[in-house]
Amino acid sequence: MNNNDLKTLLQDLKYPGIDRTIGELKLLGEIKVVNGVANVELLTISDESYLNVKKLIEESISNKFDSLNITKKNLAKKDANYGNSANPNNRAPYAKNVIAVTSGKGGVGKSTVSVNIAIALAQKGFKVGILDADVYGPNVPRLTNTDVERIKWNDDDKIIPSENYGIKIMSVALTTPAMDTPLVWRSSVAVNALIQFLEDVAWGELDFMVIDMPPGTGDVQLTVAQELPISAAVLVTTPQIVATDDVSRAVMMFKDISVKMAGIVENMSFFIAPDTKNRYDIFGTGGGEKIAKKYDIPFLGAIPLDMKIREASDQGEPPVALGDDEQKKYYQDVVENILANSEFNL
Ligand code: ADP
Repeated sequence: MNNNDLKTLLQDLKYPGIDRTIGELKLLGEIKVVNGVANVELLTISDESYLNVKKLIEESISNKFDSLNITKKNLAKKDANYGNSANPNNRAPYAKNVIAVTSGKGGVGKSTVSVNIAIALAQKGFKVGILDADVYGPNVPRLTNTDVERIKWNDDDKIIPSENYGIKIMSVALTTPAMDTPLVWRSSVAVNALIQFLEDVAWGELDFMVIDMPPGTGDVQLTVAQELPISAAVLVTTPQIVATDDVSRAVMMFKDISVKMAGIVENMSFFIAPDTKNRYDIFGTGGGEKIAKKYDIPFLGAIPLDMKIREASDQGEPPVALGDDEQKKYYQDVVENILANSEFNL
């Protein structure tokens, strides 16, 4: 068996538990057969994946060689040259502007807002990509009706993003075997996946890259700020949590790392009864505006709690694309305010 035979054999092995081969996952480094000894280098982003693949290879081919020598090359090394938030790297030179959408807590509608902002920008004629970096709840594929798609590669070994509603879409969800697999990723793995999606996806030229960040103030936020020049951060909150520490921590983090905030969106802000059209300010009014004023950042708009927004979103029909005029306007106004409050390179 020569180098190429071994390579072909290894490429076709299925990664344990995932419907993809280790060739597709690009886990193979240098492969050499010398005097009956197979030397296999694995490119890994975590010890866990290294051990998984090592075991798989040992079980599959050790009887074919006198001995098997498996080594690992840590892909993280490639990224040792991290930037810092004051002087970030630019892992996405193809994107003229990066908008990071974030929240203090999960479940406030951050992904819904991200998707609708991205589509509203595309409706204005901009070239837009959305990167779903919310490793704890990657919802963008479901919200854009792209959730059945799996990763595909082009001839240049770049990942081909999904496309729908006029935007390019890539999600950390597409790297998991099934959509409902809980993602118990350690942050280093999440960070490496994020960098891979910035560098190894065929985004083409973009006017805007919208990043749906995980909630909170963890490693992924810091990495994004270090690896990308963020043009504007958008903070999504709900009236229940607008005055909580989670929100103020998120604002303070962006201030600390000198990322410019485009402003705050208050989601599920009020309720309009579908039958009577009466408006109910269940959690009072003006919380979002108050917090924006407190931190001296713009208030970008209030989006109502609307059953139709939830139903349509969860079916992959974004309100800004397929909703009624009123629903469209909420998100389109937010986008106008983002554009008015930021200095974009267009
Ligand atoms: P996050 O990204 O903050 O975790 P999601 O965007 O996934 O939140 O939204 C959480 C849930 O709330 C989803 O079921 C979504 O459809 C729903 N939702 C979001 N915004 C609204 C809204 N304005 N009105 C009603 N439901 C909403």
